[in-house]
Amino acid sequence: MSVLVYTESENGKLKKSAFEVASYAKAVADQLGSSVTAISFNATSNDELGTYGVSKVLNVTDDKLATFNALAYANSIAQAAKNENIQVIIVSSSTNSKFLAPILAAKLKAGYVPNVVAAPESASPFTVKRTTFSNKGFAHTEITTETKIIGVSNNSFGLKENATTAAVEAFNADLSDADFSVKSIEIDKVAGQVTIADADIVVSGGRGLKGPENWGMIEDLAEVLGAATACSKPVSDMGWRPHGEHVGQTGKPVAANLYIAIGISGAIQHLAGVSSSKTKVVINSDPEAPFFKAADYGIVGDAFEVVPKLIEKLKEF
Ligand code: FAD
Repeated sequence: MSVLVYTESENGKLKKSAFEVASYAKAVADQLGSSVTAISFNATSNDELGTYGVSKVLNVTDDKLATFNALAYANSIAQAAKNENIQVIIVSSSTNSKFLAPILAAKLKAGYVPNVVAAPESASPFTVKRTTFSNKGFAHTEITTETKIIGVSNNSFGLKENATTAAVEAFNADLSDADFSVKSIEIDKVAGQVTIADADIVVSGGRGLKGPENWGMIEDLAEVLGAATACSKPVSDMGWRPHGEHVGQTGKPVAANLYIAIGISGAIQHLAGVSSSKTKVVINSDPEAPFFKAADYGIVGDAFEVVPKLIEKLKEF
């Protein structure tokens, strides 16, 4: 039973999540006594996948697929899976993968489980631990369909080196105009910023920061840490920050290694989207703020005093 992994890239460079899903796929393949084939789209760094146990890479070189297109990507992966006689597909739990995987599942009549947060279980890699109820609990879910799709949460399994040589082949699926019936015409992206989905560290601000004019210190802290910036829902609703920074149940999910919440109360809807993060640090002037109950580390204090001192100290390293 061969394992196929969809490895995401940006501007030709594989994302960190690509190596994490490859590591996960290798663990599944080892249990099955099988090998890992990756499918990437216009990536130029495919040979790096060998470090994480991928022995073959199908690199899609079609220019029409230079930018993400859920239907066309899903069709390409489905064709690759059929050609390679694949029954297990591993993807990340990014927004794009969550868009693509249900289409792929419908095409292959596969069972799909997203948000998997633990290593494959020793009894069967197809009984997986995933988050549920907006990250307030875990479910152990079994996939019994012949073809299976597993979506792995970012920063949950980690990178596991398993050096082999990846043979890279060009692969282009047979696509029709119908596959491009919905497509992005133009994508506006703020240059030079770390995106929330790919960030190891996220620095997030809430209403406690009083106004958009005070976000300089959030950006400075993020810059020192190489982090992405985020915010609570009211902050983006009031237009203090762009909507793309809104995290939580109705915003972007965060599964960072470190999440720093500044002036955020820790409402249940906020926590629902950020509690998968490994370490949560809370800075809040109210010792009764609910976020402290979910925090690994907390600083009770005025953000306007604490954050500048933190930046100063971090700059010394
Ligand atoms: P507040 O609750 O006003 O908290 C501000 C905090 O700042 C307080 O704890 C205060 O003690 C602290 N503070 C004040 N001054 C300082 C200072 N000088 N220094 C340090 N701390 C200070 N919210 C989300 O964030 N994401 C979501 O996805 C989301 N989805 C929602 C969906 C629904 C259906 C609903 C009903 C609500 C949703 N909300 C969401 C809103 C959520 O319920 C809260 O209202 C919101 O998270 C509160 O934002 P906040 O913590 O920034 O503001």
